[in-house]
Amino acid sequence: MSEAQHYLDSLPNPEAVEIGHLVDKLLLDAYRMNASDIHIEPWNSSILVRLRLNGLLQELVSFPLDYMEKLSGRLKVMANLVSYETDRPQEGHAQVGQEMGGVELRMSFFPVLCGGEFGSDVKGEKIVIRIFDPNRRSFQLEDLGFEPDTLDSFQRLLTRPSGMILLTGPTGCGKTTAIYAAMTYLGNLYGSKYSISAVEDPVEYKLPMVSQAQINSAKEFTYPIALRSLMRQDPQVIMVGEIRDPETASIAVQAGLTGHLVISTIHSGSTAGVFARMINMNIEPFLLASSVIGIMGLRLIRKNCVYCAQPYQADSSLLSLTTESFQEEASFRAGDGCEHCAMTGFEGQISVTELLETSEPMREAIVKKMPSRKLQEIAVQNGMRTLWESGLQRVKNGDTPFEEMIRSVPYDPL
Ligand SMILES: [Zn+2]
Repeated sequence: MSEAQHYLDSLPNPEAVEIGHLVDKLLLDAYRMNASDIHIEPWNSSILVRLRLNGLLQELVSFPLDYMEKLSGRLKVMANLVSYETDRPQEGHAQVGQEMGGVELRMSFFPVLCGGEFGSDVKGEKIVIRIFDPNRRSFQLEDLGFEPDTLDSFQRLLTRPSGMILLTGPTGCGKTTAIYAAMTYLGNLYGSKYSISAVEDPVEYKLPMVSQAQINSAKEFTYPIALRSLMRQDPQVIMVGEIRDPETASIAVQAGLTGHLVISTIHSGSTAGVFARMINMNIEPFLLASSVIGIMGLRLIRKNCVYCAQPYQADSSLLSLTTESFQEEASFRAGDGCEHCAMTGFEGQISVTELLETSEPMREAIVKKMPSRKLQEIAVQNGMRTLWESGLQRVKNGDTPFEEMIRSVPYDPL
């Protein structure tokens, strides 16, 4: 049972709660279960606390709405925020003690209405706490779960002297971890011989051997301004947290063409769709074709718990998406849930990737502004293993259930 539930059960009545105690127990539960976030949210008649475990939210405990004010006040004091202000968003951070390995908490408070009745205007806050644990995060490329040939190709791309490497995928697909791992790889490879600079919003972790700058739009320290200035800092590798506007895109493409290795992330529906996205940001196709050397599409899927995973029969509608030989060779496995995995059946996450390397036929197709679908076909002809194939391989190996894979990986039988 969770520490928080145990504490709540031990109270003679709900009014006897000591909020400081409850907060400690919630944090401890989250830490022990390896949660990435805690969501505290007023629902109809109670406050619901959920933990994000391996990417999905799971209910932890709920308690009376009356705790709202004290709970929010307590957390705001921890984060040095104005505790009595509940009607505007606030953000802050706090460090917690030895018991939790000194992790950092990033808290966000957002005013919402609560109370069950329609038209009610009882005020509450949705509170989300992100847990950053530098000891648990690994920024080693080898630990991300890339398939061996993808890892080789990605490392080879990273050692190119110039050009642009882009990572793409939806929020929570592991782009940030992968880009940090790429910087760590380069730092270890070149040590003090290389000048590596990063511009980020926000800087999530401080990396050794990398100069990291934090964007601050309020002070007009934007991506374009930071990048222009950075070009005069004699960098060899430039990491741009995210390309999201035409100006940043243009400077990053230029940097890749003028003897720098640029690594960045970009939001796009598909890996090959990144080219169209960049062209929509007014980048000339011929510049794009010469600058971009590779794009990695990423998804994260949850890994079966090793303690409770058992052979199982995947749904027949899913099987119909695969070949007979796949079904014969696959060892389908899924977990029922046990004490090791907080009853979820999953433990940890693993990457599913596709790595598009810019070949000569690809460059020609980009210059001709061919549709994304066509670019994808060329990439496959060029040997790219698609997200779908990579995901199927995970299912086949029994690393994850089919149902979990298809939740994150687009069906794409080319
Ligand atoms: Zn288990």
